[in-house]
Amino acid sequence: MSEQLKITCSGCSLLCDDIIIIKDDKEIKEILGACQKGINKFNQIKSKNRILSPLYKDKGGLKVLEWDLALNKAIQIIKNAKKPLIYGLSTISCESQILALKIAKKIDAFIDSNSTICQGKFLNIASEMGITTTTLTEIINKSDLIILWGTNIVESIPRLFSKILFSRGKFRMTGREIKNLIIVDIYKTASFKVMGTRDLAIIIRPNEDIELIKILKKAVKGDYTFPNEGISGIDKQDLERFKTFLLNSEHITILPGQALLNQKTNGDAIKELLELVNLLNNIKNNGRISLLMVGGHYNMVGFEHMALSETGKNQSIQFKNGESIKSDDNIISKIQKEDFDLSIIIGTDPISHFPLEISKILSSKPIILIDNKKSGTFLIATLILPTSITGIENKGLAFRLDHVPIQLKKIIEPPSLIQSDYELLQKILDRLNK
Ligand code: SF4
Repeated sequence: MSEQLKITCSGCSLLCDDIIIIKDDKEIKEILGACQKGINKFNQIKSKNRILSPLYKDKGGLKVLEWDLALNKAIQIIKNAKKPLIYGLSTISCESQILALKIAKKIDAFIDSNSTICQGKFLNIASEMGITTTTLTEIINKSDLIILWGTNIVESIPRLFSKILFSRGKFRMTGREIKNLIIVDIYKTASFKVMGTRDLAIIIRPNEDIELIKILKKAVKGDYTFPNEGISGIDKQDLERFKTFLLNSEHITILPGQALLNQKTNGDAIKELLELVNLLNNIKNNGRISLLMVGGHYNMVGFEHMALSETGKNQSIQFKNGESIKSDDNIISKIQKEDFDLSIIIGTDPISHFPLEISKILSSKPIILIDNKKSGTFLIATLILPTSITGIENKGLAFRLDHVPIQLKKIIEPPSLIQSDYELLQKILDRLNK
């Protein structure tokens, strides 16, 4: 018999909780309200890409293992390692993240999440300077200016605009008509297509965002004239409009993305942006300017919270003798220095996403992959332990991009003998503790 359920999509960090599905005992028949990215996530259930049994690579190629043997193999590989890395963790539940941290502590591993090469860069600097954040509800209800800075959310978080830009809020009853949009990027991404005549499109030369931020800081303080030739490829008239938007809008939300986080100026552009936000908050009599991080993985924020509560650090944690110790490394520097002899990759695909030279080093040592789908990392992993899909085949807690905790439901049974990340990590921890 079919039933209708309202569920949350774990296709990205927006965790849309307004998805309707029609299902029977065995499968999901229909999905209503999800974007294509969300539908792709549900399609993963029966994808050809799905991993359906533990696999071990020996000289003869990939071999299917029974679960008991696969877990013994995992323990053997882990116990042989002196400097293990654990990496990924942004697409598993908070409960599973805590178990991964416990395993890291048990085996004196270095543990890091995808955030370290994404929003974590911002949060590290913000932890020294402070940050004004916001929630989706506040943006919907109050924002009259949204600034996308180096991010293409139409593709990475497809329904975010429909929630925060095209919606009507308590204090913004006319919705899009009074919500203005500024997009700063090095070329016109798909997100530019939603722009109207009142909005401001800023195409900036690569790695010159810091110049724009510095000049805006001077401009909003007053007594400053933009150069006639403009700066960084932006003409004077657009700079004037940018300044006017910043000074005249009441509630401003800036969404900083990868293009800003990966500037060659290291963290300096981020520092300048945080200073601009603080400056405007001091100048403004009404309203507020705040930031919303737009990391894509559905529980990237969750790891920041779990790691902080378990260890006092939100990422890049080195354990030694069961204690977290000071370390200036992150996953990239650990690999660059070849300061590891095993990597345990959980729910991510670094071989496809890291720069080639880093992937080459990573692939030169054993890899245990815990994931539900085949990937570049799958192709070179030593041992592969498949898991169910959180938010579809098992439940768990996740944190939305604005740090709101959301409970994900189990909707259908996972494939035969496939367990959740939580169950699998618990079994590994139990065997390590024996
Ligand atoms: S925007 Fe993200 S959470 Fe919402 S339906 Fe699309 S993939 Fe799912």
